[in-house]
Amino acid sequence: MSEHDKWIKAFVALTDSGGEAKLSCPSCGRVGTIDFQFVGDPVSRKGYLQMWCRECKKGLSLSRLLIPHWASLVDWNSEKSLLAERIPSDITEVEE
Ligand SMILES: [Zn+2]
Repeated sequence: MSEHDKWIKAFVALTDSGGEAKLSCPSCGRVGTIDFQFVGDPVSRKGYLQMWCRECKKGLSLSRLLIPHWASLVDWNSEKSLLAERIPSDITEVEE
């Protein structure tokens, strides 16, 4: 399974658990270091996800999602600085 596939699997575990899953990082294996942010339209709840590891700084982006009802989302019309506020600036996205 590729590193990208492992991140997809972690994303599925996250959504299936309503955000409650104790995830281990698909890249470095540490537990409890995964953070995520949904950004989208507050009405249609269409948007995208960014998911990253606070320790090894690997991450995944997925676009054109329907944001789950349990998740809070950041309005994608927000200032860029607000969209980026929680996300470390040195994340490397895993390649597909
Ligand atoms: Zn990691």
